[in-house]
Amino acid sequence: MPVWRNWAGNQQSRPSVIERPNSESQVAEVVMRAASNKQRVKVVGSGHSFTGIAVPDEVMIDLSNMNQVIEVDEEHGLVSVQAGIVLSDLNAFLETRCLSMPNLGDVTYQTIAGAVSTSTHGTGLCRTGLAAQIESFRLVTASGEIIVCSRQQHEDVFHHGRVSLGALGVITELTLRVIPAFNLRAVEQPMRIDHVLDNYSRLIEEHDFFEFYWVPHTNWALTKANNLSSDPVDSPGRFRTWFNKMFLENYAFGVLCRIGRLFPQLIPRLATVLPSTGRVEYVNISHRIFSSKRLVKFYEMEYSIALESLVPALREVMKMVDDRGYRISFPVEVRCTGSDDIPLSTSTGRRSAYIAVHMFKGSSYTEYFSDVEAILRKFEGRPHWGKIHNLHASEISILYPEFQRFIEVRNQLDPEGVFTNDYLRRVLGR
Ligand SMILES: Cc1cc2nc3c(=O)[nH]c(=O)nc-3n(C[C@H](O)[C@H](O)[C@H](O)COP(=O)(O)OP(=O)(O)OC[C@H]3O[C@@H](n4cnc5c(N)ncnc54)[C@H](O)[C@@H]3O)c2cc1C
Repeated sequence: MPVWRNWAGNQQSRPSVIERPNSESQVAEVVMRAASNKQRVKVVGSGHSFTGIAVPDEVMIDLSNMNQVIEVDEEHGLVSVQAGIVLSDLNAFLETRCLSMPNLGDVTYQTIAGAVSTSTHGTGLCRTGLAAQIESFRLVTASGEIIVCSRQQHEDVFHHGRVSLGALGVITELTLRVIPAFNLRAVEQPMRIDHVLDNYSRLIEEHDFFEFYWVPHTNWALTKANNLSSDPVDSPGRFRTWFNKMFLENYAFGVLCRIGRLFPQLIPRLATVLPSTGRVEYVNISHRIFSSKRLVKFYEMEYSIALESLVPALREVMKMVDDRGYRISFPVEVRCTGSDDIPLSTSTGRRSAYIAVHMFKGSSYTEYFSDVEAILRKFEGRPHWGKIHNLHASEISILYPEFQRFIEVRNQLDPEGVFTNDYLRRVLGR
């Protein structure tokens, strides 16, 4: 059997069978057959998780044949899609209907079901992660039963299943709340990190979507402030866009990372190049600003903490990097979102800040990530389900008030653990 690998190449497996169903009833058949053969089933999206959450060990389901838009209800702002649709295709479709996702992460290679299942998010206090847009979904459970989950039907499964880690069954369709298409005015500029941290509360309140990257070994942050705008699209032209987004952020940055991996002692000097990019301002359709292409491969860990903890937590991370003498070529990313009520969402019940650390693919990351993790755990940090971390169920259960109830729902829907794998056993306890 062919080897399955995730995007970063740090997870791989050799599933015994790969199924590519064309319909919900075929999904149910695959699940029932596997369950009666005592085989485990794993649906894989685009493989963009860094953890083993999507690693298939026996039956792998690939939903790339179930990637269509089913229905749009423009009047009520709803779109129904098959679970395997990739976010970039969904965005392109919504654009043709003058509609938009309210928020996105920084790439759109993921499938919609994969993205919501790990609590994927972007930035902006006025918005939540993607899963909070779900109005209903259809689920094939371990017994092969197909259930519709919404606030009116199977309410408990709906409540827990919007961020399910793939542990409750196979989502085949989702209905999402969407909003009228909107443009964003983006201002990207370097600022002194002390200025950003001293003014953090103001910056995130003042801008609709604010994020920044602290550049290790410098006193600089690269900031991105995106604001809703009624101005027409005014992007810098195709060459300039390619130069900024592809050349600087991918090719040139990739070269810096390669040099840094070969000669780590040069990283502090190379890092001073990053803040020299200057200020850029442009207006574009929201999804073109939220997300861009990522050609440089890396490993990533990301924790969510309460918004108020961001400044002390990041200052501790910065000090630790200096004290430990690490050589880090990737900027540390900081975002925020509003709170939601989804039990396993990383921003459940609290407005959240996110600190993400990255290492260039092929570099050793374990020590650096563990040191950052130790700091963020002191701030009751919750790890991103799809990004590297070391936590177990006993540690995770105290971070989520509704964790036990999620486990009960899972026990009812999948008593034999048809949808489990090693990662789920670690973080959910079986
Ligand atoms: C370059 C890059 C950039 C990223 N940027 C961000 C970001 O900005 N913000 C952020 O929060 N995260 C980000 N991530 C993480 C990414 O969004 C998540 O890991 C997401 O889950 C990946 O989606 P996927 O389709 O690849 O799912 P996979 O990684 O393939 O699967 C993830 C989980 O979803 C489950 N799943 C998939 N389909 C179904 C289904 N139909 N039914 C039930 N379960 C299902 C899988 O079984 C698995 O448990 C990034 C990752 C990369 C590699």
